[in-house]
Amino acid sequence: MGQSLLKVDNLSAAYGGIKALNNVSIEIEEGKIVSVLGSNGAGKTTLLKCICAAMKPTGGTISFRGKPLPNKPHEVVKAGLTHAPEGRQILANMTVMDNLMVGAYLRNDKAEVKKDLEYAFTLFPRLKERQKQYGGHLSGGEQQMLAICRALMAKPSLVMLDEPSLGLAPIIVSQIFDIIKELKKNGTSILLVEQNAYKALSISDSAYVMSVGSIVKQGSAEELLADKSLTEAYLG
Ligand code: ATP
Repeated sequence: MGQSLLKVDNLSAAYGGIKALNNVSIEIEEGKIVSVLGSNGAGKTTLLKCICAAMKPTGGTISFRGKPLPNKPHEVVKAGLTHAPEGRQILANMTVMDNLMVGAYLRNDKAEVKKDLEYAFTLFPRLKERQKQYGGHLSGGEQQMLAICRALMAKPSLVMLDEPSLGLAPIIVSQIFDIIKELKKNGTSILLVEQNAYKALSISDSAYVMSVGSIVKQGSAEELLADKSLTEAYLG
């Protein structure tokens, strides 16, 4: 076992009376890519919302590097955990550069921010070319790249990506998945939420499969890819 980075224990959450998570437990080790898979409405986004403190769980615990994760969004970012949310949530009336700087707003280390910006631009040269354009003028793929880079600008040790492939052309999806592998090589741990299970498993170390608010399966990426019953039942 490697060093545990994020540990979610028996997490439950609800929207009013509707339960969305039932005793969900997951663990991410340092330096790994871990996927959370499952069809529409399985609870994947709700899990991420609870981890990044955008939603208050009804039960369970979340710890990061062995300590309770703070329950305020900016403190979660400060602790080293960021999020590229579902739907990207780019600031349409701000430039690419300003969107990226929003990601770094809690940092005072200007020289390091500049280095990280250069790194983001080497990952996605397209964003460098378009740095003065408004977020709202980017294509879907560029917006996804921007959402990932904005999450990286806080210099996280763990970044959570919610459906980065959604609605994008296969060639762009491949580029984004290559970048996710590159991030891992550079030491960032990744929690990847995806409906595109095969693609996600192809770059993951391990994965959890969710269905109606619960984890129904977990294992290494190879085990899950080889599990025919699973791929038929949950992964389409
Ligand atoms: P998707 O890929 O469609 O986002 P998901 O696995 O991320 O699916 P969630 O969005 O976490 O699933 O939804 C889990 C359950 O909670 C679903 O039954 C969904 O209808 C419900 N739900 C999600 N958001 C809300 C909300 N704001 N209010 C009420 N119910 C919600």
